[in-house]
Amino acid sequence: MADRAAWLRVLGRVADRQSEVGLVSCPDCGQDQLEVRYIVKHESRIGYVLLWCGKCLHGISVSRVRAPEGAPTWSIDDPASVEGVPNFARYE
Ligand SMILES: [Zn+2]
Repeated sequence: MADRAAWLRVLGRVADRQSEVGLVSCPDCGQDQLEVRYIVKHESRIGYVLLWCGKCLHGISVSRVRAPEGAPTWSIDDPASVEGVPNFARYE
């Protein structure tokens, strides 16, 4: 089992390689099915991020982050921004 620190390291890699999130392996199950969603204020690009594995449904939620340049974002003011996010187990 991975822990929050391992997932935070993965988040760093995902942030650096935005278009290649599919190439980063899940720290829990090793599959390449990670998904990331930046839910932020449009103007500042600051909000929180969800990172999860679509295979084993583990992941993390991290608050007070800024979405990287070029990363797709969802509005923090829109409840629909979390639609489609599975109920994954969050490491606290
Ligand atoms: Zn996994």
